[in-house]
Amino acid sequence: MNEESITKRQEVRVFLQKMRDGAIKELSPKIDPKLGIVYKDAEADLKDNVQPTLEALHKEGLFIKIQEGNITACKKCGSTSFMVMHRCPNCNSLSLRKGMVIQHLTCGYTELESIFAEHNYVCPKCKKKLRALGVDYGKPGIQYVCNECGNMTQNPTVLLQCWVCGELQTIDEAKYIEVNKYLLDHTKRELLAKVTFNLTPIIQRVSALGWVAKKNYGIRGKSGIEHNFTLALWPYEYGLKKTPDVVVDIHTGVVEEIQVLGLYAKIIDTEIRNAMLTAVPMASEKAKALAKYYGIIIVEAEDTEALIEKLTFTIEDTIKKLLIR
Ligand SMILES: [Zn+2]
Ligand SMILES: [Zn+2]
Ligand SMILES: [Zn+2]
Repeated sequence: MNEESITKRQEVRVFLQKMRDGAIKELSPKIDPKLGIVYKDAEADLKDNVQPTLEALHKEGLFIKIQEGNITACKKCGSTSFMVMHRCPNCNSLSLRKGMVIQHLTCGYTELESIFAEHNYVCPKCKKKLRALGVDYGKPGIQYVCNECGNMTQNPTVLLQCWVCGELQTIDEAKYIEVNKYLLDHTKRELLAKVTFNLTPIIQRVSALGWVAKKNYGIRGKSGIEHNFTLALWPYEYGLKKTPDVVVDIHTGVVEEIQVLGLYAKIIDTEIRNAMLTAVPMASEKAKALAKYYGIIIVEAEDTEALIEKLTFTIEDTIKKLLIR
């Protein structure tokens, strides 16, 4: 992974963590007539940058890509709903007739079958009556005949007009898009370990101390707003009463005041007393001062592997202190 790796972005890490935890199983494409290809499960984290991110994660080796099909999208706005028209490739006229064509082998005259039918199957050019298919006339297939220039073709230009933005384009000018499904490549253990957490060791350690831990725990605050914590912990004897005794938010970037304030707002609203916030590789001095004032423990570590170790230790320490009280 190079310096520009997409996995350095916080929202991408949150998203990858959900996939590793199984909260999101796979990313299946849905075709929306206005928006083109959408991946509903990825939108909450990746906002309007879903497709480039999924493709980048595939290029970096974290995602398996499986092509499920293809689709044509507007070259201007990306919509997939079009009005489809046929245009004369010779003079660009949109005034065309379509039908089965008859070729009179005797004189070479070629016209739509409907014209021969109007003349009771007497050739309009040489005035001879048609006799038998394959003997004196042939049917070379469906053709488009231009009313302007008389050009006859089996392959008129296919013209698409976008229903959303009105852009006119040929099918070759429109965007050809592969429709792909993406899956996390669980065999890439080393890569995954660098950008996501394995919370299992922490949960095991917590339960060894007689406590219970839940991942991605949601709780409604006094304000009515639902808040989410990476980990929520309870002493086992209280079972799963609503308010956890300890919560942990895992942040995998540098922690600034904004992250501390965000967590503080959540614990005030939910009346949770003990909170931890992680920082990789560090928290700013201002963030540390703020966290100290609000009673939030900051756990700093140089990388995610070291972080899990330090976090386990800090949680253990906090639990033991709470048990003594
Ligand atoms: Zn024409
Ligand atoms: Zn003829
Ligand atoms: Zn368009």
